[in-house]
Amino acid sequence: MTGANAGTPETSAVAPSKSPLETPVTGSNGTACGLNRPAAIILFGSPGSGKGTQSKFLVQWLGIPQISTGDMLREHIRKSDAIGLSIQDRMRAGSLVPDELVNQLVFERIAQPDCARGFILDGYPRTPAQAQEMVRLLSARCAEEVVIHLIVDYNVIISRISGRRVCPQCGTLYNAASRPPKVEGICDIDGGELIHRPDDREEVVGPRLHAYEKQTAPLVVYYRRLGLLCDIDARRSVEEVRQDILQAVASIRGER
Ligand code: ADP
Repeated sequence: MTGANAGTPETSAVAPSKSPLETPVTGSNGTACGLNRPAAIILFGSPGSGKGTQSKFLVQWLGIPQISTGDMLREHIRKSDAIGLSIQDRMRAGSLVPDELVNQLVFERIAQPDCARGFILDGYPRTPAQAQEMVRLLSARCAEEVVIHLIVDYNVIISRISGRRVCPQCGTLYNAASRPPKVEGICDIDGGELIHRPDDREEVVGPRLHAYEKQTAPLVVYYRRLGLLCDIDARRSVEEVRQDILQAVASIRGER
């Protein structure tokens, strides 16, 4: 883990007993906006980098909701509503959906009362236009941005995505190699039948990675310049990555 505000890279952190959202923030930004500003924790990384898995830990630890734009969009497709019908071909092909639509969905979601103390963004922002919209939304709410950059390499991505299965009912993620369900094909939590996401098929992973490199990866430079980026080596085990993320969030919230 590296980054201006991150903790010591080599230390394996122990999860702090107190959530960093309970720590009053006292930096110059904090003075302008008051203490205990809401936290927008952005999990940033390529498909298969572990954003969804790590988001779920953060939800438990911080007690704030996860906002997964991928899940929101898939729900529209499942319902076959007007939004779902308008995006299903793009999503199945591994392309991004239009910025205006995603921005609107996120805007409406973060206006909900459960986001008042903060929220975890999983899969958003993904383009420069979305990042700019996010800055506007967050400054209007005096929210503090933390960008956790999960770094993986190509081979890890391919092996994770090809082995990934998800419970369509509760969203729990499994992986044949690293986190198998107790009974093959069945969710441990609710007994739902696990599925292989249509866009996790081999022929769609290439276009998704291409979209990431072209449209999303340039945001790394943008966030690094703003001093918001915290790099995490996400090739390691789920638990090791989790500990580094918890340490980074705690230290950033304490320092700013
Ligand atoms: P992953 O990060 O593994 O690609 P997601 O569930 O986050 O999985 O995204 C799945 C798909 O949903 C993307 O390939 C894209 O089509 C669409 N999508 C999700 N988030 C966004 C976004 N912020 N902007 C545009 N399209 C998005």
